[in-house]
Amino acid sequence: MKMQKPRRRRRKIIRQKTCRLCENKIFNIDFKDVELIRRFQTEGGKILPRRITGNCYKHQRKLAMAVKRARFLALVL
Ligand SMILES: [Zn+2]
Repeated sequence: MKMQKPRRRRRKIIRQKTCRLCENKIFNIDFKDVELIRRFQTEGGKILPRRITGNCYKHQRKLAMAVKRARFLALVL
């Protein structure tokens, strides 16, 4: 008889699915708003993917633009 390993079910971390930027009614993400941009980055300075942040497409795109601009000006990593 084979011993079956009890399969550990990894619980998905349920995060809010709503776009935080829509909730707060932030339509224009300012690249000078370092505090805001940092919230959507990893420690290494990468942009967090949409599936983690729960941003909508529109905001994610704007955010990516803002991050890239902020990077260029060395405001963020
Ligand atoms: Zn949004």
